[in-house]
Order: sequence, then structure tokens, then C-alpha cells
Amino acid sequence: MRISRAHLDQVVAHALRDAPDECCGLLAVRDGDVVAVHELENVLQGPKVFGFELGGSSYPRAMMAIDDADAEAGVLYHSHTRSAPYPSQTDINFGRDRNRLPGVEWLIIGTKGTEPEARSFLIAEDGEVTEVPVTVLD
Ligand SMILES: [Zn+2]
Repeated sequence: MRISRAHLDQVVAHALRDAPDECCGLLAVRDGDVVAVHELENVLQGPKVFGFELGGSSYPRAMMAIDDADAEAGVLYHSHTRSAPYPSQTDINFGRDRNRLPGVEWLIIGTKGTEPEARSFLIAEDGEVTEVPVTVLD
């Protein structure tokens, strides 16, 4: 994906604001470019729960807004607050489920280190993880 510095800053700010809980959201993409950030409610959010699950009313609302903008929900993002920004087994199980957002890029913001780290992945149906580039446009 190609993402502007401003949009990436918005995603990172969301991750830092929700830490130590994980945040999640969708990025609207048109022709490979991120055109909007949609923060989603993390229904697993809570001090003792790690991981994320889409839910609440924010998810269908975001999907409708993305559709209205003639864009696609091309990227699902979430944060890892205490592990490296690489898909966990839970993420892989979710990502390979073709009933849920097939083919999206998985952008993971790692907030464990001193500097937040953004990495993106594709998760195939067989569970294979492939890193894809995050091109930041200034
Ligand atoms: Zn994860």
C-alpha cells in the first residue's frame, strides 16, 4: 500500500492512545493509495484481554462509508503492544478465513519499542504470511 505520512500518523496515534490495549481499524484504499482511516471499536478491549475482534456498530458504518467513497476496505490495521509487529497465530486464523475480509493487507503497528513500527502482510488461505511494503508518501 501507499499511505500518506498524515494517514500513517493517524493510525500510529490511535495505537498509542489505546495502548496497552490493542486498537483496530480499516483503511479505505483506491488504486493502491490509502484515502481514509476508519478507527473501529475493539470489542475485546480491556486491561486483561489481548487481541482484537471487530465488532459493534463501527464496523458496518465504516464499510458503508468506504463503499460510498468508491473505495475498498483494502487494509485492516491493529496494534501489537507487547509483541513484535508480525501476525500472531490468532491473526493468521482470522486472516485465512475467507468469510472475513478476504485479501486485505494486515497492517500491524508495534508499540513495544521506543519508536512505533509499521509493517504490512498478506495472509493466504493456507496461512502463509507474506510481508508487503508500506510506502509512506511525504
Ligand atoms: Zn495481532
